[in-house]
Order: sequence, then structure tokens, then C-alpha cells
Amino acid sequence: MKVFKFGGASLKDAAGVKNVVSILERYRKENLVVVVSAMGKTTNALEAVIAAHAAQNGEAMQHLQTVKENHYAVMRGLFDPQDEVFASVNDTFVEAEWVLEEAPAVDYDYMYDQIICVGELVSSRIVAAYLNKIGLPTQWLDARDIVKTDNTYREGWVNWDKTKENSRKVLETMPAQGGFVLTQGFIGSTSENFTTSLGREGSDYSAAIFSHCLDAEEMVIWKDVPGVLNADPRLFENVVKLDRLSYKEAIEMTYYGAQVIHPKTIKPLQNKSIPLFVKSFLNPEGSGTEISSDTEDTYPPIIVVEKNQALVHISTRDYSFVAEQHMARLFAKLADLRIFVNSMQNTAISFTICVPNVKDRIDSFIRNVNDEFRCKVEEGLELITVRHYNEETIASLKKGKVVLFEERIRNTLQMVVKNVPLIERREVELERAKG
Ligand code: ADP
Ligand code: ASP
Ligand code: MG
Repeated sequence: MKVFKFGGASLKDAAGVKNVVSILERYRKENLVVVVSAMGKTTNALEAVIAAHAAQNGEAMQHLQTVKENHYAVMRGLFDPQDEVFASVNDTFVEAEWVLEEAPAVDYDYMYDQIICVGELVSSRIVAAYLNKIGLPTQWLDARDIVKTDNTYREGWVNWDKTKENSRKVLETMPAQGGFVLTQGFIGSTSENFTTSLGREGSDYSAAIFSHCLDAEEMVIWKDVPGVLNADPRLFENVVKLDRLSYKEAIEMTYYGAQVIHPKTIKPLQNKSIPLFVKSFLNPEGSGTEISSDTEDTYPPIIVVEKNQALVHISTRDYSFVAEQHMARLFAKLADLRIFVNSMQNTAISFTICVPNVKDRIDSFIRNVNDEFRCKVEEGLELITVRHYNEETIASLKKGKVVLFEERIRNTLQMVVKNVPLIERREVELERAKG
């Protein structure tokens, strides 16, 4: 059995759905588990619904109607008006409307998950119905009946034992004579059956969870790029496709923020030696990228840029050294607030961390450690990580930027940079020229 994952970019309209289905037709003799995300930018649109509901500004229902209308437009491009898919999609939206009719839940993250799931639920209904319509036997499966998590809303932690046990249902659902099980990425449920989500862009991770639990022979992620590239093609020209990557290289790249694959995807696959292919839904014949094995290849420089970072400079108020017990306290608080440390450096009495600039969490961290530590925040920064760096690449990345922090270890260079406005850039260049 193979597991395929199609993201929002591949399912952004009726033509996208038809294209995905044309790829699946090639596998009509096989048993596939197909994991889909919400269509296009639906999850962002649902986040606006949720924010409006929390703010009680009277706009939530209207935002939801827009999301619904977008899905109806896709369905009109695929089905006759009498098709029963309209009723099943409508039912899912009605459930979300019920949530909006109630006062917003006190726990924002809980409420978020009860609404955000609509995107995946309706996209999976539409794709499954279309596959059946054109004669590819497909069973729709609710991922929340399989993927069990703890109660950490918006970042559910998978209960592997329960999820493995439930995965038997996937096999029972699979059509015997070739055919597909189609389910949702991104969502799971708690032991009390409340919906949880696995974190933004989590559908890749869902597909890896299914692959792991079902001992899949391979997993394929279908993207709008030819495979994994050595840098984000939206930010860099002359990028190259990486034909093969080790699990280790892939996990390092995605950990540092390469958006092509969710960082949690690799481990469940590596643990069972399941190869991961990243292929293009625009060119399904292309070779893509194969991620497998632990043997290292030689790689070109691989560049990962994480925007919207902040540096938090932390120093002891009483001039005591930043010692282990301080670190323990600081890290316990960071973990508690779910602040993800991308990079760090320390001196005798200070400690600097580079973190995503999530203001409310950073403020709360500062308040919590204020008795012992003085903190200063620098915002508007980028973290650039280069694996397999060379001097030429580094020099070109530094152009037009001020480097605030740089660290090199074997194979990995990290720098936190600030873009210099054009006028200042000229001055910096003149300074540099002067030596
Ligand atoms: P999906 O909707 O399938 O989840 P995303 O838009 O989330 O797709 O992710 C695919 C995008 O990731 C690509 O279009 C590409 O612009 C971007 N990307 C960033 N870094 C890389 C990389 N190293 N290799 C390939 N694509 C990358
Ligand atoms: N739809 C979700 C998101 O946009 C999950 C995913 O696409 O992987 O974050
Ligand atoms: Mg995505």
C-alpha cells in the first residue's frame, strides 16, 4: 500500500481536482490511502472566521459564507446540481454555523480546532465524490476516527498506540479489488472525540502518520515544484532540484524551516525505513526527489530562510554567570510557552536566543523571568541557515544585510540578519569598500 498526499495548492479549483484525479487514475489497480488538505487558501480564510467569532464583531458568519460559496463554485465545476455531494458539504458547513451561533469558547485554541477542520472535511468530501463519479472506487474516511491525540489544541501530540490500533479500520475500509481510501490531513481527535489539529501545514505529517501505522511501502507528496529544491524558488533564482536526500538531510532542512515539507514528517517514515517521494502534480512523470536511507550524499549549498524572527537578549540582573540552573529555568519557561528556539549563543552573563516573533508569547516570557533577568528584544529579523555552505554562497547571502549573529559548525551555518534600507545599504557598502 502507498500513501499519497495532495496539498491545498493542488486542489485550488475544479481544474486542480480534475488534475489530481487524473494522477490517481494511473494507480487505479493499486490500494492507495490518499490524504488531502483544505483547498487553496481555505485554512487562512477559516482563521479569519475564527478570529471574527472570537472578537464577536459580527463578521464571522459572512466570512464562512464566502468559504462555502468558494466550495460551491468548485463543485459546480465538477458535479450536476442534483449530486448528493452538495448536501454532505452543506451539512459540514451547518455544523460550523452551529459553533458560530454559540458564544465563543473561552479556550481559543479549542474553538479554533472545532472550526478549522471544516476545510479538510469538505475538500475530502468533494475529491472522494469526484473519484467515485468517474468510476474510481473510493471510500471516504474520517481521519478523526484514526488519528488520536492529546488535548493540546492546535498542536495535538499523537497517541501512537491508539492511532496504530485504529489504523486497522483503514484496511477494513479499503476496497478489495483496487481502490482508494480518502481521508483528511491536519486533523485528529482527543480521547473524548473533540477535534484537534496538528499544527499549520500538518497534512504532510498526517500522511506520515498513516504511512507509519500501515507500514506503507512508500509515501508520495505531490507539490507544485519538481521536487525538493536547494532553496525556496520564491526567494531565489537558479535553484536546483535535489534528486536524492537522506532522512537526516531532510530532517535538518525542514527543522530549520524549509517550507516544502512539514518538519514532523520525516521521523515516522525514517523509523520504518519508508521512502518519501516529493513529486510534481504539474509533471507527474518527473523523477522528483527521493528521501530515503541514512547514507550521505554530497550536496550543493542548501539555503533555508525563516522570516519574522526576533532576537531576545537575556542577561542576569545581578551579574551572576548564566549557568546551568539559569538555563534550566529559561528553557522550562520557553517550553511551557511553546516558544521554539531556532538558535542561541551565550557569553558570561548574557544569553541570546533567536525565536519566531510571536509577540504575546515573547512578552509573557519576559514577564515570567523578569525577577532574575533583563530582556531586550530585536524584531524584524531573518534567520538564514545554510547547509553545506561555501564562502561564495555566504557572501552573496550577506549582500544588503547586516549580520547580527553568526554561527558555524561543520556543515551548518546560521546567521540572523536584518535587511538594510537602500540608503543605509549604500553607506554600509561605502564603509566596507573603505575596509
Ligand atoms: P501544499 O499546498 O502542497 O502544501 P505549499 O505551498 O505549502 O504546498 O508548499 C509548496 C511550496 O513550498 C512551493 O511552491 C515552494 O514555493 C515552497 N518551497 C519552499 N522551500 C522549498 C524548497 N526547498 N524546495 C521546494 N519548494 C520549496
Ligand atoms: N490546511 C492546513 C494548513 O493550511 C494543513 C495543510 O495544508 O497541511 O495549514
Ligand atoms: Mg502546505
